[in-house]
Amino acid sequence: MPEFDVIVVGCGAAGLSAAVAAQQNGARVIVLERAPQDERGGNTRYTGSWLRMKSVDEVSDDFTDHFAVNSGGYRDPSLVHETSKDRDNWLQNLRAMSFAGPEVVATFADEAPKTLRWLQGFGARFEKLEVPFLTSVQPRMAPHGGGLALVEALATQFEKTAASFTTTPQHLA
Ligand SMILES: Cc1cc2nc3c(=O)[nH]c(=O)nc-3n(C[C@H](O)[C@H](O)[C@H](O)COP(=O)(O)OP(=O)(O)OC[C@H]3O[C@@H](n4cnc5c(N)ncnc54)[C@H](O)[C@@H]3O)c2cc1C
Repeated sequence: MPEFDVIVVGCGAAGLSAAVAAQQNGARVIVLERAPQDERGGNTRYTGSWLRMKSVDEVSDDFTDHFAVNSGGYRDPSLVHETSKDRDNWLQNLRAMSFAGPEVVATFADEAPKTLRWLQGFGARFEKLEVPFLTSVQPRMAPHGGGLALVEALATQFEKTAASFTTTPQHLA
């Protein structure tokens, strides 16, 4: 019976990124996916994978505002000011709310360019989306070939180190 350090469930962008990153850190990784191998990629496979980026190295001007506003459900206005405190000092009911705190959004923005560079290392190519009409939408980029290209780039990288994909048995899916 083979042994693994990390078991990843799901072969979309999130699962594959986690699997490849764990491999890069020396872990023995298996990815469990309920879809057949030739349909792998989850929702990621079917998206254009538009990204709020001006270039590979720079997020769009609306990046943090957009994610701050859209990263969760309703926020009690009387608690919003509490989020300016260090997270360790947040009230318990604030911690229980489903939204990304400002430091999470800021880390996301800081890490985005590095992540695109990381994906380029596996063959992903990013291009600007040219919009041929006037729009208030900020610049966007996308991987050439959309989400499917990201899935294939990451899955191919993963398979170089370990052929450890398996389809989840029906009773576990
Ligand atoms: C039509 C559409 C367009 C979109 N466009 C964009 C866009 O332009 N830009 C953008 O940033 N985002 C876009 N999104 C959102 C984006 O697709 C998702 O945020 C992203 O794909 C999520 O990746 P993921 O890896 O978390 O999930 P997924 O890609 O959905 O992968 C999850 C995987 O887990 C597997 N799985 C689930 N449960 C089990 C189980 N019990 N056992 C085994 N396997 C399991 C699924 O089969 C699937 O393969 C779009 C989404 C849709 C639907």
